[in-house]
Amino acid sequence: MGSFANVCIYRIPEGTFFKFPGKSFWESQQSCCRHCNTPIKPYYNIPILGYLLLLGKTSCCKKPLSPQYPIVEILTALAFSWMFIRFPFLHLNQVDLYWAVDTELLAYFIHGCILFYALMICSFIDLRLMIIPDVISIPMIIIAPIWVYFLPGFELKDCLLGILLGGGVLMAISMTYYMIKKQVGLGFGDVKFLAGIGGWLGYQCVFPTIMFASLMGSVIGIAFILIRKKGMQTALPFGPFLAIGALIYWVCGPELIQGIFMP
Ligand SMILES: [Zn+2]
Repeated sequence: MGSFANVCIYRIPEGTFFKFPGKSFWESQQSCCRHCNTPIKPYYNIPILGYLLLLGKTSCCKKPLSPQYPIVEILTALAFSWMFIRFPFLHLNQVDLYWAVDTELLAYFIHGCILFYALMICSFIDLRLMIIPDVISIPMIIIAPIWVYFLPGFELKDCLLGILLGGGVLMAISMTYYMIKKQVGLGFGDVKFLAGIGGWLGYQCVFPTIMFASLMGSVIGIAFILIRKKGMQTALPFGPFLAIGALIYWVCGPELIQGIFMP
């Protein structure tokens, strides 16, 4: 799954997800060097291990290999493992010795994995290209209210309100900025992204997510300006901050939020 996430991060914005120009469908499915287009040997395609074997350089043309590959693979492994610890849907029945599946926990496990996966892919694309692809954010918005059906304790109205509030608040901020500064400060990619997050975590997540994201964005933005001395117009992608903000809310839960606002 981590390896596939890397494929998505590179190929979705390029529009080469299914087919590279000038290659057949099956040729397009093979991993090739991004510098010289040489097909990559299968054992170098093994997640994490491939990067270690190659010591961070391509085997064909000795160009640097992005550390994004192992980072995304490790993040996916950690996140999915943690999701299983949080939602242990498999139980070994001690009496009859068979594996029992708890479907409610399984639904929450899948819900968590999909959300993390979408947040990670969008963040890495946003970091590189300053865009959040519609092919991820729009399905997030559409699938959220459907998946709620499988999640006991997660109400449909919380989900729908989350989509409206998440999209609405950022749209208001974006339009206000545009009216004052006459330039786009916050793209519509971020608006759709937070609408999706609101749908997956419920409306309760919207303000804490924006708060954490803005705090982190300000700290890193100020550090950026101090280091680079480029002035106030240095653009930072907001997507990764929204993603980390949503994860903080999700992991630490309402307990942390109550601790901050109602000590
Ligand atoms: Zn190469």
